[in-house]
Amino acid sequence: MSSAQALRDLHDSLPGSDRMPLVFLGHGSPMNAIEDTGFSRAWTQLGRSLPRPQAILVVSAHWMTRGSTLVNVSEMPRTIHDFSGFPDALYSEQYPAHGAPALARDVVALLASHRAAEDDTWGLDHGAWTVLKFLYPEADVPVFQISIDMTQDLPCQLEIGEALSALRDRGVLILGSGNVVHNLRAMQFGGAPLDFAVEFDTLFADRLIERDFSGLADRQGLGGLLTMAHPTVDHYLPALTIAGASDAKDSLTFMTDEIDLGSVSMRSFMFHAA
Ligand code: ZN
Repeated sequence: MSSAQALRDLHDSLPGSDRMPLVFLGHGSPMNAIEDTGFSRAWTQLGRSLPRPQAILVVSAHWMTRGSTLVNVSEMPRTIHDFSGFPDALYSEQYPAHGAPALARDVVALLASHRAAEDDTWGLDHGAWTVLKFLYPEADVPVFQISIDMTQDLPCQLEIGEALSALRDRGVLILGSGNVVHNLRAMQFGGAPLDFAVEFDTLFADRLIERDFSGLADRQGLGGLLTMAHPTVDHYLPALTIAGASDAKDSLTFMTDEIDLGSVSMRSFMFHAA
């Protein structure tokens, strides 16, 4: 199916809506899911302020694939506890939302040029459920994830965002979950923000405001600073998806813009139609 046909089908299957905002959340430590932190409180507040979506599409740093963009079509996505060494309480957390299989299949068609394919093995990883738990505590909005194809470079994720942007007019909330700076090797408990973390975080915010997205996706131009901020780019890519889905008429709001643990930016942002 062509992506134009996929778009027409989508318009037939989901009613129109006011253009939905786009949200990127810095998720940081999984412990935010069970601790009352400034971050989890901000996510609760955000959930109360967002229009109620028909469905949520999540691009999480923690679903990495190679050679294709997978779209989860599960009826009931399982809660994945994809971490180790955390307290038992974190492993008993469940986020029992329904999936959105029909919409997910439409998204496979929409992303045909990005080698999209259906998947029924994934579910909701901690990049998704640790924040959804606060945004929609009743788990009563259907949700599904798409993966990030680690064989593609940064601009690809901008293009995927652009392809997904039509969903915004069908009541779908596109949620990116990662971190604008994410260097676990440099992380220090209780540590002050490291210079490179502040520098990249500031550069990111400035370019996002200027809508210089190609600059944000320019690996050569970002050079060693990108490597310091992201020894691997998995936590960075979902921020590019969200940028790619925005348009010049959106206004941009930043939330929870602080550096945690020395080298993890908790900067979150939202684009909303004016
Ligand atoms: Zn993470």
